[in-house]
Amino acid sequence: MKNPPERTDIYPSESLDDARILEIGNRLKAGETCVIPTETVYGLAANGLLSAAIQKIYTAKGRPADNPLILHVDSPQRVQAIVTDISDDAKTLMRTFWPGPLTLIFHKQAHVPDAVTGGLDSVAVRMPAHPLTLKLIQAADVPLAAPSANRSGRPSSTRFSHVYDDLNGRVDMIIDDGDSPIGIESTVVDCTGEHPAILRPGQIDQAALEMVLKKNVPYATHTHGAPKSPGVKYGHYQPKGDVELCLGEDAQVHAYLAAKEFDAKRRIIASLEWADQYPSLPVTPLGSIHDFNSIMKTLYATLRQMDDEKVETIYLVAHPSWPESLLDRMKKAANHHVKTFENEA
Ligand code: AMP
Ligand code: MG
Repeated sequence: MKNPPERTDIYPSESLDDARILEIGNRLKAGETCVIPTETVYGLAANGLLSAAIQKIYTAKGRPADNPLILHVDSPQRVQAIVTDISDDAKTLMRTFWPGPLTLIFHKQAHVPDAVTGGLDSVAVRMPAHPLTLKLIQAADVPLAAPSANRSGRPSSTRFSHVYDDLNGRVDMIIDDGDSPIGIESTVVDCTGEHPAILRPGQIDQAALEMVLKKNVPYATHTHGAPKSPGVKYGHYQPKGDVELCLGEDAQVHAYLAAKEFDAKRRIIASLEWADQYPSLPVTPLGSIHDFNSIMKTLYATLRQMDDEKVETIYLVAHPSWPESLLDRMKKAANHHVKTFENEA
């Protein structure tokens, strides 16, 4: 195994025939690293059962060693080889939402390396809804550990250019598959206890989980006090400039921002509708509030754009009624620097 890689092989996804997929799978199995597309964000993959390969992920990303990784599988059957028990609720969630943007936490079998789990006795597993990724896992014939394909602390990569900027020359292979379809990371649900609990919100939201399981599915941090998911304690998704998240009614946020002075180093990020309403302010628009998926898809790219344009102060405008998954990523981008406007009605 070479470490660090001398060069990075880049493969456009449309160039990958079955023979090439098998070759990449074999290289992954042997311990090389490859950036793979998934439906959520790009992942930096390695053989999830080989400690030396997993170590390369931490080195390439600069990720803290106690922040565990998700194992990606190509079928529910492959889960049985890495976990000790699958609760009825977990089975229901797998049947309903896999393949898809839902990660489940199970008790791990002894042979799952500590390097994957950060020393925990549990392991995170997901079956992604991306045909090419499923073929790659099948070709590798092992679960692939794959955290988001960004340098630690930066926004997750949702475009090939993000992957290239962060990891070219630091990994063995990159697959270029254009833009990530969803744009934010998977929902994480802890299935190790008697009752499932949400560790990280995502596109599959609390209401969807509760409807399927016919019971309350609380946020773990609300019920257990200390965060159970090690990743939540780290700064995440942060652009280089200072970010303030402004949460309130459009007019209130506008009054607050209109009183500020703007130059090229200060910028507002807001929905298309907010931008249209206040054309005199320097707004970089996200998607439309009538399609939150479009906002999820563009959020990280827009935060990275602020770095490219050397913006030093960013006002991120959102509304308290927006999906929990979006507000969570936005709060992290703002390093929890949030200005909330009380409703005066
Ligand atoms: P990433 O793959 O970078 O999106 O991060 C994976 C997320 O899953 C992080 O927030 C981790 O802390 C969380 N995670 C992974 N494994 C576990 C585990 N065994 N228990 C709890 N959380 C986990
Ligand atoms: Mg990440």
